[in-house]
Amino acid sequence: MSEVRGLWIDVEFCTGCKACEMACRQEHSLAPDEYGIKVVEQILNGGFTYNFVPIPTDICNLCAHRDDEPACVHHCMASVMRHGKLADLADALEERPGSVLWAVREKEKPRTKRADVYAGNIVDGNESPKE
Ligand code: SF4
Ligand code: SF4
Repeated sequence: MSEVRGLWIDVEFCTGCKACEMACRQEHSLAPDEYGIKVVEQILNGGFTYNFVPIPTDICNLCAHRDDEPACVHHCMASVMRHGKLADLADALEERPGSVLWAVREKEKPRTKRADVYAGNIVDGNESPKE
């Protein structure tokens, strides 16, 4: 059975509060224009339908350093996020047809601009390969 892990989000009940974005930014010391998860606003039917869809980015590493749940899941005030193995989370898709499941690539650390700054890879905001 697959060991791939991911994030399940019940977008039908996501309030668009963006607490997940903020929690991720704080947890990983991301720059203001970096996102481990981004809440996309979907406006349809002349503005009568307004959906929020949080989407993990390639920075997301499922908070591999944390022993407990990922920061975004912990801080989701609407409790519409879960994490774990895709096989386990698939059941939630059946329970909540309006939900989504994101598979996340396994990696130990997220690649961020600040991480590069600490490693000396960015000079004056321009990326330069480390010697
Ligand atoms: S699991 Fe961790 S790294 Fe991924 S979006 Fe949530 S807080 Fe960010
Ligand atoms: S913290 Fe939860 S309710 Fe708020 S935008 Fe993120 S997923 Fe939606």
